[in-house]
Amino acid sequence: MESCSCCGPITMVLSCSGGSNVGQISNEVARKLTVDNRAVMFCLAGVGGDVEPLVERTNSAERVLVIDGCPVACAKKTLERHGIEHEWLELTGLGIEKCPSLELVEAEVECAMSAAVKCLEA
Ligand code: SF4
Repeated sequence: MESCSCCGPITMVLSCSGGSNVGQISNEVARKLTVDNRAVMFCLAGVGGDVEPLVERTNSAERVLVIDGCPVACAKKTLERHGIEHEWLELTGLGIEKCPSLELVEAEVECAMSAAVKCLEA
Protein backbone atom coordinates (compact mmCIF):
# COMPACT_ATOMS: atom_id res chain seq x y z
CA MET A 1 0.00 0.00 0.00
CA GLU A 2 1.13 3.57 -0.63
CA SER A 3 1.88 5.94 2.22
CA CYS A 4 0.10 9.21 2.83
CA SER A 5 2.22 11.80 1.00
CA CYS A 6 1.70 14.55 3.57
CA CYS A 7 2.17 12.63 6.82
CA GLY A 8 4.17 9.53 5.93
CA PRO A 9 2.93 6.04 6.71
CA ILE A 10 0.08 6.05 9.16
CA THR A 11 -2.05 3.59 11.04
CA MET A 12 -5.65 4.59 10.68
CA VAL A 13 -8.56 3.60 12.91
CA LEU A 14 -12.22 3.75 11.90
CA SER A 15 -15.06 2.95 14.28
CA CYS A 16 -18.71 2.20 13.62
CA SER A 17 -19.59 4.79 16.30
CA GLY A 18 -23.08 3.29 16.38
CA GLY A 19 -26.04 4.23 18.58
CA SER A 20 -25.50 1.67 21.30
CA ASN A 21 -23.08 1.14 24.16
CA VAL A 22 -20.72 -0.92 21.99
CA GLY A 23 -20.95 1.57 19.12
CA GLN A 24 -19.98 4.38 21.46
CA ILE A 25 -17.19 2.30 23.00
CA SER A 26 -15.81 1.75 19.49
CA ASN A 27 -15.78 5.52 19.03
CA GLU A 28 -14.12 6.09 22.40
CA VAL A 29 -11.40 3.55 21.66
CA ALA A 30 -10.69 5.15 18.28
CA ARG A 31 -10.49 8.54 20.00
CA LYS A 32 -8.18 7.26 22.72
CA LEU A 33 -5.88 5.51 20.22
CA THR A 34 -5.57 8.86 18.45
CA VAL A 35 -4.92 10.85 21.63
CA ASP A 36 -2.27 8.27 22.60
CA ASN A 37 -0.62 8.62 19.16
CA ARG A 38 -1.10 4.93 18.42
CA ALA A 39 -3.29 5.56 15.35
CA VAL A 40 -5.21 8.30 13.57
CA MET A 41 -8.98 8.25 13.76
CA PHE A 42 -10.59 8.79 10.38
CA CYS A 43 -14.07 9.36 8.99
CA LEU A 44 -16.10 6.22 8.38
CA ALA A 45 -19.05 8.30 7.21
CA GLY A 46 -16.92 9.75 4.43
CA VAL A 47 -15.93 6.30 3.24
CA GLY A 48 -19.55 5.14 3.47
CA GLY A 49 -20.65 8.24 1.58
CA ASP A 50 -18.18 7.51 -1.24
CA VAL A 51 -16.37 10.81 -0.67
CA GLU A 52 -13.47 10.08 -2.99
CA PRO A 53 -10.63 11.97 -1.22
CA LEU A 54 -11.55 10.25 2.04
CA VAL A 55 -11.76 6.85 0.38
CA GLU A 56 -8.35 7.42 -1.23
CA ARG A 57 -6.81 8.64 2.02
CA THR A 58 -8.09 5.56 3.86
CA ASN A 59 -6.78 3.31 1.13
CA SER A 60 -3.37 4.96 1.34
CA ALA A 61 -2.90 4.21 5.04
CA GLU A 62 -0.14 1.77 5.88
CA ARG A 63 -2.51 -0.08 8.18
CA VAL A 64 -6.23 0.23 8.92
CA LEU A 65 -7.91 -1.00 12.09
CA VAL A 66 -11.69 -1.18 11.94
CA ILE A 67 -13.65 -1.37 15.21
CA ASP A 68 -17.26 -2.51 15.12
CA GLY A 69 -19.47 -2.60 18.16
CA CYS A 70 -21.30 -5.77 17.16
CA PRO A 71 -21.31 -8.55 14.55
CA VAL A 72 -23.57 -6.59 12.21
CA ALA A 73 -20.16 -5.20 11.19
CA CYS A 74 -21.26 -1.92 9.60
CA ALA A 75 -17.76 -0.43 9.50
CA LYS A 76 -16.18 -3.62 8.17
CA LYS A 77 -18.79 -3.86 5.41
CA THR A 78 -18.20 -0.21 4.50
CA LEU A 79 -14.48 -0.83 3.96
CA GLU A 80 -15.10 -4.08 2.15
CA ARG A 81 -17.36 -2.28 -0.31
CA HIS A 82 -14.31 -0.23 -1.32
CA GLY A 83 -11.94 -3.18 -1.21
CA ILE A 84 -9.82 -1.55 1.51
CA GLU A 85 -7.62 -3.98 3.41
CA HIS A 86 -8.05 -3.83 7.17
CA GLU A 87 -7.83 -5.60 10.48
CA TRP A 88 -11.06 -6.01 12.41
CA LEU A 89 -12.04 -5.83 16.06
CA GLU A 90 -15.64 -6.61 17.08
CA LEU A 91 -16.50 -5.67 20.63
CA THR A 92 -19.23 -8.11 21.65
CA GLY A 93 -16.70 -10.84 20.87
CA LEU A 94 -14.77 -9.55 23.89
CA GLY A 95 -17.74 -10.33 26.12
CA ILE A 96 -19.18 -6.81 26.16
CA GLU A 97 -22.95 -7.14 25.95
CA LYS A 98 -24.70 -4.81 23.51
CA CYS A 99 -27.44 -2.60 24.94
CA PRO A 100 -29.16 0.64 23.95
CA SER A 101 -27.49 2.69 26.70
CA LEU A 102 -25.02 5.31 25.54
CA GLU A 103 -23.35 5.53 28.95
CA LEU A 104 -19.75 4.37 28.79
CA VAL A 105 -18.71 1.77 31.38
CA GLU A 106 -15.05 2.38 32.13
CA ALA A 107 -14.19 -1.31 32.55
CA GLU A 108 -15.69 -2.07 29.13
CA VAL A 109 -13.80 0.80 27.51
CA GLU A 110 -10.58 -0.49 29.10
CA CYS A 111 -11.29 -4.02 27.88
CA ALA A 112 -11.89 -2.79 24.32
CA MET A 113 -8.88 -0.45 24.45
CA SER A 114 -6.63 -3.22 25.61
CA ALA A 115 -7.81 -5.49 22.75
CA ALA A 116 -7.25 -2.70 20.22
CA VAL A 117 -3.73 -2.01 21.50
CA LYS A 118 -2.94 -5.73 21.40
CA CYS A 119 -4.18 -5.85 17.82
CA LEU A 120 -1.99 -2.90 16.82
CA GLU A 121 1.07 -4.38 18.58
CA ALA A 122 0.70 -7.74 16.82
S1 SF4 B 1 -21.70 -2.55 13.97
FE1 SF4 B 1 -23.39 -2.83 15.44
S2 SF4 B 1 -23.11 -1.15 16.95
FE2 SF4 B 1 -21.90 -0.63 15.12
S3 SF4 B 1 -23.25 0.71 13.87
FE3 SF4 B 1 -23.50 -1.44 13.14
S4 SF4 B 1 -25.27 -2.24 14.29
FE4 SF4 B 1 -24.56 -0.41 15.37
